[in-house]
Parts: sequence; C-alpha cells; structure tokens
Amino acid sequence: VYTNPIKLANDPNRKIGVLIILQDVTEMRRLERMRKDFVANVSHELKTPLTSIKGFVETLKAGAANNIELRDKFLNIIDIEASRLNSLIQDLLVLSDIENNKNILNEEDINVNNAINEVVDFLSELAKKKNIEIVNKINGNLPSVYGNRGWFKQMMINLVDNAIKYTTENGKVTIIAYTIDSELIIKIKDTGIGIEKEHIERLFERFYRVDKARSRRVGGTGLGLAIVKHIVIAFKGSIKVKSKINEGTEFKVAIPIEEK
Ligand code: ADP
Repeated sequence: VYTNPIKLANDPNRKIGVLIILQDVTEMRRLERMRKDFVANVSHELKTPLTSIKGFVETLKAGAANNIELRDKFLNIIDIEASRLNSLIQDLLVLSDIENNKNILNEEDINVNNAINEVVDFLSELAKKKNIEIVNKINGNLPSVYGNRGWFKQMMINLVDNAIKYTTENGKVTIIAYTIDSELIIKIKDTGIGIEKEHIERLFERFYRVDKARSRRVGGTGLGLAIVKHIVIAFKGSIKVKSKINEGTEFKVAIPIEEK
C-alpha cells in the first residue's frame, strides 16, 4: 500500500512512500493450535491404556498372580488395553498415510458394488452379535469410481462399523447407493442412538467423541470419522450428516464419477 507521495523539501523530484504489508495470521495460528492440540491428544490417548497396562502388571507382580481368578481378570484387561493401543496406532498410521497422499499410485477403477458387498460381509458377524440387520439396498449396476480401493473400503467400514456400534440391539443399518447426475451417492442409515445437533459439526475432528466413555466401551478411537473425512476429500467428494436423538443417523457421501 503506497501512501500519497510526499515531496521532499530539498529534492522536489524525490518521492517517498510507505509500504505497509498486512498479513493475516489467524489461519496460521489456528493450524498451529490444531497441531499442538493433536500432539497433546495423541499423547494422552496413548498414555491412558499404557498406564492401565503398567498398573495391572505391577499388581500381578506384587502377588495378584497367585489368585487365579484375579490373574485371569487382570490379564484380560491388559489384553483389551493392548488391543486399544494397537487400534489407535493403526488409525494414526492410516490417517497419516491419507494426509500425505500415500497410496496414490494404487489408484484404480473401483467396482463399487463389489467393494460395498465385501464390507457388508466383513461386518455381518459384528451385526449378528447385536442382532442388527444390515439391509443392502445398492443399485445393482453402479458405475465405478476412480481412486484407492483400500481407502474406499476403509471409508465404508468406518461408517458401517459406527452405525452398528451406535445402534442398540435388534436395530437396523441400511446402505443405499445410487447415482444422480454425475455423482455416486452412498447413504448409511441406522436406527441408533442419534447425535445431538450441537455435536454434528465437530464429529469429523480427530478424537472428538460425543460420549467418551461409551465410545471407549464399544472400542472407538475417536479417529474413525476424521479418517472418513480425509478419504472423502481424496475422492473429491463431500459428506453430510442428518440425525435425530433416539431415532437414528444418516451419513450421506457424494463422490464424483469421472467421465470416460
Ligand atoms: P469413535 O471411534 O469414537 O467411534 P468416530 O470418529 O468414528 O470415533 O466418531 C466420532 C463420534 O461420533 C463417536 O464417538 C460417536 O459419538 C459419534 N458417532 C459416529 N457415528 C455415529 C452414529 N452412526 N450414531 C451415533 N453417533 C455416532
């Protein structure tokens, strides 16, 4: 920005100006804060199961191992906490791969019908355990989408797995897929616990959970939807959520279909 030139008294031809550079650091500060929060969250999330594992090992070493019932109970807790650590690390690695756009070399035409059917098969046992019916309403002849097949399946697994996790016994999870204009639309609907409006816009943040205790109980890491969001972005798509408390939730993914 140049101010009006001012003529110097001793040199009428010389002009001076003032250059003012304004830089908006709000976005930089926000990103820096997010990075710091993330590191703090990761450390906390990794520390919690580790502290628990160490505590139970020490109790076992101090004599609890002599009581068979206690020993088995504590070993079971250690096993669960170790699995939690494993899922967390796994999810963090997936998130980092997607963010760094690794696997971009593994892109291909994805047969959407096959990929979704594989996901439904993969999760059917989990659904059966809670007597949840998975209704697969995908249009028989969907066009393919281009991208990483593993990520596409990961996105579907996370959404269907959540639908099962946050739905009580005897509920229903419906998967609908169809095309409209040049987009593939996939809806994952459940008859579950629902999400209050105030939480909806934060759901895709890393480690954001509506109910931490419940999420832990059902084996959540708080990273599932952050992974989904990044995969949807990698597919140049979008995702929306509709939900009603105690009635259910619907996640709607739209992915552009590339013209051939
Ligand atoms: P988590 O590992 O905790 O499930 P996610 O990132 O997958 O983490 O989901 C974030 C939070 O969003 C969950 O903790 C849960 O509170 C909520 N949520 C996700 N999907 C559903 C759903 N289908 N019904 C109700 N709540 C859901």
